[in-house]
Amino acid sequence: MSTEPSSPSDHGDAPSRPPSGRRTAVVTGASSGIGAATARVLAAAGYHVVLGARRVERCQAIAAEIDGTALALDVTDQESVDAFVAAAGPVSVLVNNAGGAKGLAPLAEADLNDWRWMWETNVLGTVRMTKALLPALVASGDGLVVTVTSTAALETYDNGSGYTSAKHAQAVAHRTLRGELLGQPVRFTEICPGLVETDFSRVRFKGDEERAAAVYAGLTPLTAEDVAEVIGFVATRPAHVDLDQVVIRPREQASSMRVHRS
Ligand code: NAP
Repeated sequence: MSTEPSSPSDHGDAPSRPPSGRRTAVVTGASSGIGAATARVLAAAGYHVVLGARRVERCQAIAAEIDGTALALDVTDQESVDAFVAAAGPVSVLVNNAGGAKGLAPLAEADLNDWRWMWETNVLGTVRMTKALLPALVASGDGLVVTVTSTAALETYDNGSGYTSAKHAQAVAHRTLRGELLGQPVRFTEICPGLVETDFSRVRFKGDEERAAAVYAGLTPLTAEDVAEVIGFVATRPAHVDLDQVVIRPREQASSMRVHRS
């Protein structure tokens, strides 16, 4: 695998670069899990990484480690997104990773606050960030948008409609951009992970450690690094190569409803 960010030379325009000469990648939700691992992988691949999340102190610790930049970011807040984008400078790569699930309940018992959180964060957060950064991504001469949706964007499962509907909507917004920006120097990759052991289930079950651990019991889940390495691969392809969609599951998971536990 090449460790160099791809060259935009086949588009003619000179890319915008920070003073260090490195191209800049923005990673949302970089304070933990897949986002934190992605920030490390992209930095190792030669990118200047701008890490954003609400827990900015966690981003600062990672930024110090990888010579990146940490900025406070709440993707559900337009003012926060505007301030983040203004401070980020020229950007070549956007990883829409901020998101997650809240609750696991039949639709008949839906908690609309949980639904609102999932739609605000996964769907509108991705739309806000992408809309704000598209001009810079196109101007870079070789832009890339990676959106971390989920296998929940491909399937439905019982008690999961708040999350699966949000991930479907996030994915549809992302996939639509592929057509709308056709002809522009920007690529779009959707990453659809299955079970990844991160803080995801702790957040979903609101701190219930036992319930969170049970999600991964009896199988070997993906790690955040497994997913980050795929994003690193995507971000180091030549400018003419668009990996439209990558589905990545643990070997022991055939679908959202079907896993093998020993
Ligand atoms: P995680 O460890 O809980 O990370 C979620 C990240 O999202 C955190 O950094 C969190 O940061 C950030 N975030 C949440 N709300 C935010 C907001 N309003 N503004 C900015 N950042 C926000 O879980 P993860 O597994 O790495 O999740 C990353 C992505 O992968 C999510 O989109 C998730 O839906 C997706 N995914 C996860 C799995 C899985 O099994 N783990 C599977 C498929 C897809 P702060 O709290 O500091 O803001």
